[in-house]
Amino acid sequence: MYRSRPALGVFISLALVLAFPSLSPAQPKAKPALKVFISVDMEGIWGIVHGDQTTPGTPDYAAGCALMVADVNAAVEGALAAGATEVVVNDSHGSMRNIDPARLDPRAVLISGTPKPLSMMQGIDASFAACLFIGYHAKAGTENAILDHTISGSVVRGIKVNGVEMPELGLNAAIAGYYGVPVVLVSGDTAVCRQTEEVLGKGVVTVAVKEAYGRLAAKLVPMVEAREKIRQGVKEALGKLAGAKPYKLAAPYNFELATHVSAQADMGAMLLPSVKRPDARTLTFTANDFIEGFRTLRALISLAPAR
Ligand SMILES: [Zn+2]
Repeated sequence: MYRSRPALGVFISLALVLAFPSLSPAQPKAKPALKVFISVDMEGIWGIVHGDQTTPGTPDYAAGCALMVADVNAAVEGALAAGATEVVVNDSHGSMRNIDPARLDPRAVLISGTPKPLSMMQGIDASFAACLFIGYHAKAGTENAILDHTISGSVVRGIKVNGVEMPELGLNAAIAGYYGVPVVLVSGDTAVCRQTEEVLGKGVVTVAVKEAYGRLAAKLVPMVEAREKIRQGVKEALGKLAGAKPYKLAAPYNFELATHVSAQADMGAMLLPSVKRPDARTLTFTANDFIEGFRTLRALISLAPAR
């Protein structure tokens, strides 16, 4: 039986630590912050193909909300598995109260309700490392794209910034970029995945959960596979975060809003002195600050009566 000699043992340990500081017991290091922001729309959610599934008051709406939270939870799981220290989820569709707070992954922070100053991007700031768009859809006027529209289907025919036609993902990526945050993943149908590449480039991970045959029909990826693709896609995107670049447009920002009918351009042209009206259905204005421009854009859309 070995009998230890405590005094000598302590002396030897102390001598070793002084000679080789790296041998001292490791102090637990604070985990570096990795905050992830998730904006969640509904039209690009797995299983959604019709407005009834995204509109409160219809028999299909509750099931649509359950589908939405399932895609979101897959993204939250992927983010946490990739080392996220905080995940903020912003409900970004319609009433922005579609995600049942009690069904969201309890480790995530939820932003719920509307109106919000930054709308679909409420909650983003420079402290975030990455931004994800879940359940996003293609811009107004896209063929074979589930529920294609831009911000307001009843008002907006198209939105351009600096001459480039913008889907919501582009406008919102520019808001993230304003705060220096890169968009690293977009999920939705194959059409929004294509537009992600066109607007944001090839570096962004895209997850297609369905392929549209028109505006109101799609072939769905099998359910378990779709959610696994989201989970793995988020892990992959956050794993290569070092190479991600924030999306920044060049100032000044020239906004162009085309409405469906001239009545929808009337009030904006009458009330906002900075707004020009090159034709009956089109309003334009220039902003030096992207967020200010975005606010004016929303004001113009809010002033327009529905068709
Ligand atoms: Zn939506």
